Amino acid sequence: MTLHAPPRVKRRIEGANRVYLFLDYDGTLADFAPTPEHVNPEPEVVTLVTELAGHPALRVAVISGRRLSHIEELVPVDEILLAGTYGVELRLPSGRHVDRVAYDEIRPVLGQIKPRWAQLIAGRDGFFLEDKGWALAIHGKFAAEDEAEKVLEEARGIATAVAWDGTHSDLFRILGGHKFLEIGPALAHKGKTVDYLLEWYAWPDALPLYVGDDDKDEEAFGVIHAHDGLAIKVSEQPCKTDADARLPSPPAVRRWLATLPKRFGDTEISTVDQR
Ligand SMILES: [Mg+2]
Repeated sequence: MTLHAPPRVKRRIEGANRVYLFLDYDGTLADFAPTPEHVNPEPEVVTLVTELAGHPALRVAVISGRRLSHIEELVPVDEILLAGTYGVELRLPSGRHVDRVAYDEIRPVLGQIKPRWAQLIAGRDGFFLEDKGWALAIHGKFAAEDEAEKVLEEARGIATAVAWDGTHSDLFRILGGHKFLEIGPALAHKGKTVDYLLEWYAWPDALPLYVGDDDKDEEAFGVIHAHDGLAIKVSEQPCKTDADARLPSPPAVRRWLATLPKRFGDTEISTVDQR
């Protein structure tokens, strides 16, 4: 099997009575889409998540930086938990939607930043703006390295001046990345989301297991450990990470996750819990 992990980690997974899965989407369950607006469900992912969700010893939460409506399209599976915008917007297993922050507090500020960011990248090659409703991002994916750095620094200055003008102090956070900058609610944080889900949608005696590929997922790894869980990093090569194990690619993640239901065999598992 392709899971790179010390024996103690493998033993914990194999010995778990049930597993509460927290799965990132892009770069974890599925390969990266050409642009964030690209919303084509992958049949293989849908089949896999359906199978995992249907097993009584597994529970599934998909946590993504994408907006919730996209995740609902990409993973059209009922009775699982979907978290969009890093967990600001949730779809519960019951189908109910929950916003963890008041949209009216967030949106006017983003509405001020958006035209200024649009102006900043106007006429520049390789940049595009992504408006997720709850968050605003500039991608410099196709821009030259030094120009991307300069433009994103300026974008950060604009966002900081607007969102930290003294009236919205703790409401926002800025997320950086390679050729990427995003402003969204302070709760747009996968670690805080996992903490919230494990408190409010707890599944006692389950092993929390998080699978993710980037620095936004790393923010959840410490939280998973605090809840006595395990983290798996998706990375082709060994890298600096707080995770306990590694899988090399989204196809490897899918293959490995597909083995989970078989591990539990016909073991009798209580199904009285509300999923
Ligand atoms: Mg990812």
